[in-house]
Amino acid sequence: MHQLRLRHTLLCLCAVPAVLLGQASSPLPTDQPSVKRALDGIKSSNSWTLDQQVSICEIPAPDFKEQARAAEFKKRLIALGYPNTRIDTAGNVIAERPGTGNGPTVMLAGHLDTVFPEGTDVKVKRDGNKFSAPGIGDDCRGLAVVLAVAKALKEGQIKTNGRVILVGNVGEEGEGNLRGVRELLTHGYKGKIDYFISVDGLGLHVTDRAVGSKRYNIEFKGPGGHSYGAFGTMPSAIHAMGRAIALISDVEVPTNPKTTYTVGVVKGGTSVNSIAGDASMEVDMRSESLENLDSAEARIKRAITAGVLAENGRWPKSSAKITVKFDTIGIRPIGAKIQTDESPIVKTALDAAAALGAERTPTGASSTDSNLPMSLGIPAITIGGGGKGSGAHSLTESFEETPDGYKGPQWALLIVAALAGMRASVTP
Ligand SMILES: [Zn+2]
Repeated sequence: MHQLRLRHTLLCLCAVPAVLLGQASSPLPTDQPSVKRALDGIKSSNSWTLDQQVSICEIPAPDFKEQARAAEFKKRLIALGYPNTRIDTAGNVIAERPGTGNGPTVMLAGHLDTVFPEGTDVKVKRDGNKFSAPGIGDDCRGLAVVLAVAKALKEGQIKTNGRVILVGNVGEEGEGNLRGVRELLTHGYKGKIDYFISVDGLGLHVTDRAVGSKRYNIEFKGPGGHSYGAFGTMPSAIHAMGRAIALISDVEVPTNPKTTYTVGVVKGGTSVNSIAGDASMEVDMRSESLENLDSAEARIKRAITAGVLAENGRWPKSSAKITVKFDTIGIRPIGAKIQTDESPIVKTALDAAAALGAERTPTGASSTDSNLPMSLGIPAITIGGGGKGSGAHSLTESFEETPDGYKGPQWALLIVAALAGMRASVTP
């Protein structure tokens, strides 16, 4: 997950039924014996969950190279009693659990991929309750939570009205560009998912709003020439890019909803004594608001065009001009409609956290797999998997098992059962 920004929200424990407030959250099936069994099972098999997390983490899974981890994840789901677990064309691992009726279909996912390149040492080092390894939290915790839920649904013999689809998906990080959930929600399960939950990050928090992003690689090309001999006869690709960057730096963006940009990478030139014939840069723009994002993108493109025109204008005797080419290297979508803390799926998650004893559960905006379902209008949240940790996306990443760490998978189970719906228990 990326750039989590939290805002604390007090849980609404007021007596007014949610229906009277306009949007109902799904009732929590906490009185159902099967759910109680499943919750107890998660607590008592906490060390099993940690073992899953550690052993999955030790299988490398760079973006686009998730196959080995996917194969193992599939094997484990089959062993847990999901014999039809399969891997789709994108490489996502999928296990389905049929519902007993026509309730909503709920997808619960953790992502298989990591930001770490091939060859990274992923051996987990343990020091008491602290586990250190690249990817141990992001998102081996999420994958372990999906397995813990799979196990608890089966062992608790929970019967949900709707289908539950358990997923280990590819392509969440960076260049993966959400290709895993995109395949699931725009092809394999197009129009069939009523709720989407991803487990990403630690602790108990809800990401209920998406930060959308657009990323470009921008290439500047010119004739290139000798720094002395050709001086005055041609524009420079690097100078044009420099002018563009100076103009981009002055672009004003709103602080609410927060909108950002950066030129994160620059490249170019061949030698110190040349007028550069090529230069390129990578630009990242983000916002919770589609309108703000589009507007920032338009202004940044204008700044780049203006930088190129200024450089070309600086050398009127030149017949060759600098040209510019924009290439998209990543788009994280956001919907036109922003989901809020009042949305039923969010309320259900907050109610479930409260039922597990959480005093307050932070909600916030981030860039996760949930961006894609949100952009399609599918109610979606990303939840933390319990425990705590630090250093996500770094080699010093760590996960710390807290005394209530097991509440992460319990929370995921409770949300899934509530959203898929359960028949009220019959008292004899
Ligand atoms: Zn992640």
